[in-house]
Amino acid sequence: MITLALSKGRIFEETKPLLDAAGIVCLEDPETSRKLILPTNREDVRIIIVRASDVPTYVQYGAADIGIAGKDVLIEHGGTGLYQPLDLKIAKCRMMVAVPEGFDYDNAVKSGARLRIATKYISIAREHFAAKGVHVDLIKLYGSMELAPLVGLSDAIVDLVSSGNTLKANNLVAVEEIRMISSRLVINQAALKLKRDLIQPLIETFSDAVNR
Ligand code: ATP
Ligand code: MG
Repeated sequence: MITLALSKGRIFEETKPLLDAAGIVCLEDPETSRKLILPTNREDVRIIIVRASDVPTYVQYGAADIGIAGKDVLIEHGGTGLYQPLDLKIAKCRMMVAVPEGFDYDNAVKSGARLRIATKYISIAREHFAAKGVHVDLIKLYGSMELAPLVGLSDAIVDLVSSGNTLKANNLVAVEEIRMISSRLVINQAALKLKRDLIQPLIETFSDAVNR
């Protein structure tokens, strides 16, 4: 039996075609079901539904054998105990620095002033500004980063951007790209050895489906 950890929403939706390719059909809809352990058409595969940022933790400790998580989440987690063999090229977006319209970011950076940055992605932000030699105070948030600069909590935010509509609606502009983000297949290192006969074919099927 292998256990696959997924999060609801875009990751589940965008993973479906990959599961299809592997002949795995989830027998309940996580959006409507209250169950957190979902059976599939295959007796040897079950799906658990966890919060996106919890996926690496379930896989790290072997509570799930494999999972699908955003690179953002994986960088913040640190990746201990995880094998990351495959970029699934789903849930694509960009990690960006954004500021209120009219805020002169380049000048603020040049002036050497400390910048206050609100973000959910403390590790990514810390590393980015350290590499640029910019002094920052990092303020950890858990949601709606866009609000922070509008009410004076921070000068800038570090957040994921896809269409840019949320930034626009809040009079923010993206001023710097930190990195591209997509979701990765993650595998518990011990499970990969112990359940290779089940896991290896899955990796290959996903890989073919992604590169088709
Ligand atoms: P929660 O909403 O429970 O706080 P979350 O915001 O991390 O968690 P999702 O919004 O479902 O969960 O995002 C899951 C993953 O999808 C993220 O880790 C990221 O890799 C990716 N993602 C986030 N926002 C976008 C976006 N706007 N476009 C494409 N992919 C995104
Ligand atoms: Mg979200």
